[in-house]
Amino acid sequence: MEEALRYVRENPEIRDVLITGGDALLLSNKTLDWLLGELDTIPHVEIKRLGTRTPVTLPQRITPELCAIFEKHPPIYINTQFNSPLEVTPEAKQACDRLVKAGVVLGNQAVLLKGINDDVHVMKKLNQELLKIRVRPYYIFHAKQVKGTSHFITPIETGIAIMENLRGYTSGLAVPTYIINAPEGRGKTPILPQYLLSLNEDEATIRTWEKRVYKYKNYR
Ligand SMILES: *Cc1c(COP(=O)(O)O)cnc(C)c1O
Repeated sequence: MEEALRYVRENPEIRDVLITGGDALLLSNKTLDWLLGELDTIPHVEIKRLGTRTPVTLPQRITPELCAIFEKHPPIYINTQFNSPLEVTPEAKQACDRLVKAGVVLGNQAVLLKGINDDVHVMKKLNQELLKIRVRPYYIFHAKQVKGTSHFITPIETGIAIMENLRGYTSGLAVPTYIINAPEGRGKTPILPQYLLSLNEDEATIRTWEKRVYKYKNYR
C-alpha cells in the first residue's frame, strides 16, 4: 500500500482512486482510516472509491465505527454488487442506510447470471429495489468467461433484451449500463439496443423504446 500511495502521489493525473481487490472492506477499520487519510493528503486525488460486496454478503461489517471513518474522509463512492432482488434484505438496507447517512454515494455493479437474474422482470425488479435503498444501478456486467463458471454465462442477446425492457419501462435512474469487458483489459465496452437506425449530415433516423421510427433533423 505504501508503494501504491507513492505511485499515486507521484502521478498528478490520478484524480480518482479505487480501492478494490478482493474486497476493500475486508481491510481493518484502522487500515482503512489510515489509507483514506493518506489519500486525503494528496491534493490531486479528488475522489476515493471502494469496491465491496459486504453490504450484501456481510452487512454486519457496516458498523457505526466504520461509517464514522467514512464520514471523516469525503467524498467517498462505494460500488457494491447486488445480483438479485432477493438479496435486498432488511439487513442490507440497514447497511446502505448507514453508509448514506455517512455521506457515501452508493452504486451497484450487477453481473448477468444465468438462472439468477437473466430475466427482464427480475432485472427490472432488482434495479427498482436498489433505488428504494438509495443504491443507484451503475453497471450490469456480462459474465466473464472464467474457468468453472460457464454455467452462469448467458447469451449477449439476453443482456440486450434486458436493456430493451428497462429504457422506457421504468425510471431512467433504474437503467444501468450493460458492459462487456474487452479482452486483454482493453476496457469496459457498453452494449446497447440499436436506437440510432441511420445518421447522415442532414438527418438521423431514430427508433424509440416503443419502436416508433422518426426522422430527426441534424443541425450543424
Ligand atoms: C472497472 C474498472 C475501473 C473503474 O471503471 P469505471 O468505469 O470508471 O467505474 C477501473 N479499473 C479497472 C481495471 C476496472 O476494471
